[in-house]
Amino acid sequence: MDYFLTEEQRMMQGLAARIAREKIRPVRAQLDASEQFPWEIMKILAQAGLFGIYIPEAYGGTGGGIFENCLAIEKLGEACIGVGTSFAASGLGAYPILLNGSEELKHKYLPQIASGTRLAAFGLTEPSAGSDVSGIQTKARKDGDHYIINGSKQWITNGGEAEIYSVICLTNPAKGPRGASCIIVEKGTPGFTFGKKEDKLGIRASATRELIFQDCRVPVVNCLGREGTGFITAMKTFDVSRPGVGAQAVGIAAGAFDLALEYACTRRQFSSPVGSFQGLRFMLADMATKIEAARALVYATARYIDTKPKERPTLYSAMSKCFASDVAMEVTTDAVQIFGGYGYMHDYPIEKYMRDAKITQIYEGTNQIQREEMSKTLISGFHSHRSGIARAA
Ligand SMILES: Cc1cc2nc3c(=O)[nH]c(=O)nc-3n(C[C@H](O)[C@H](O)[C@H](O)COP(=O)(O)OP(=O)(O)OC[C@H]3O[C@@H](n4cnc5c(N)ncnc54)[C@H](O)[C@@H]3O)c2cc1C
Repeated sequence: MDYFLTEEQRMMQGLAARIAREKIRPVRAQLDASEQFPWEIMKILAQAGLFGIYIPEAYGGTGGGIFENCLAIEKLGEACIGVGTSFAASGLGAYPILLNGSEELKHKYLPQIASGTRLAAFGLTEPSAGSDVSGIQTKARKDGDHYIINGSKQWITNGGEAEIYSVICLTNPAKGPRGASCIIVEKGTPGFTFGKKEDKLGIRASATRELIFQDCRVPVVNCLGREGTGFITAMKTFDVSRPGVGAQAVGIAAGAFDLALEYACTRRQFSSPVGSFQGLRFMLADMATKIEAARALVYATARYIDTKPKERPTLYSAMSKCFASDVAMEVTTDAVQIFGGYGYMHDYPIEKYMRDAKITQIYEGTNQIQREEMSKTLISGFHSHRSGIARAA
């Protein structure tokens, strides 16, 4: 499908695709097996200027938007989303600064993130606060011109590897979620340490670690926006980051589909390519249709966010993340099926796509939570429309 990309977008997409093909593909199995963080590839992505695609030029980026970021993430995901998520999570850590940071903080941190010299990360989840983020316990107590942070964050992507962390803490625990603030904590700050690297089903090249805060002193100026706006910042961050998870999912599905198509056309049984049997032909047709539908929704959402930055895209962001990740799970499962027994073996690259796809249905809010958000928005939209009609009558 032609999505009418500009020349610049096409070039940037081509660059990401080339890095994926030449630098990521040859090492993805080894990175997956060894769970090695892909620093070499992060450096290549940094040299290519890809870390700054969604960051305005004033802060060292190239001035693109969420759409350009999605194009790059998708291409990386076609090869290996363990690498792709390490790239994307730096954006997740940067968005709170972009959305709610002071000019001083934007000028201090965004150029470092845009150049890829320092990775970012986003810390919200805690052991007892996953879907219900209002249950967070990490506290930031004011002490003069510093906060003293105590608590922990669980399963943070880029944990231990990133240098800049956007962390949601309670600055006024008595107010519950309205007392949360987003505070930047730098790696190396005394009292800030990391737990062990998690051993995961998929995205094994990425680093997932606990963030541990024990009397960690951080300057008060590191608070993004006013105190008490932490949850709004987190929700606005997800509004712009979730299409990126959708793009990860589209990349995973497209990468798996390419391999499945090739296999279906070359593997022979009953003296014919297995792809000539209707059972697989129809499967391939459905897979391709779902991928294109997911891609179209992700692209439309990303473009909507870029062109209407003042509108809340919550509904569409949730739709694109949820739909594309369900497609990724279905398509990768079917791709393994097309490979038959070979699909079940680590020696073939296809099973990794299925393992990797699963996380897109879980992080940045599970798909059950996305459906909760979508239905809430739809139903409250219905009621406010009806009360508007009643008032007018
Ligand atoms: C590899 C990995 C990387 C991650 N990276 C980050 C990161 O960088 N930063 C960060 O802050 N977090 C991160 N997370 C955390 C992730 O966002 C959470 O795991 C996710 O939000 C779900 O929370 P939970 O795991 O505690 O599940 P729970 O909230 O305990 O949910 C368990 C089950 O119950 C369902 N459920 C819960 N509430 C409802 C409801 N109201 N209605 C219907 N179903 C419901 C869920 O959908 C799920 O199926 C990461 C997680 C993983 C696994």
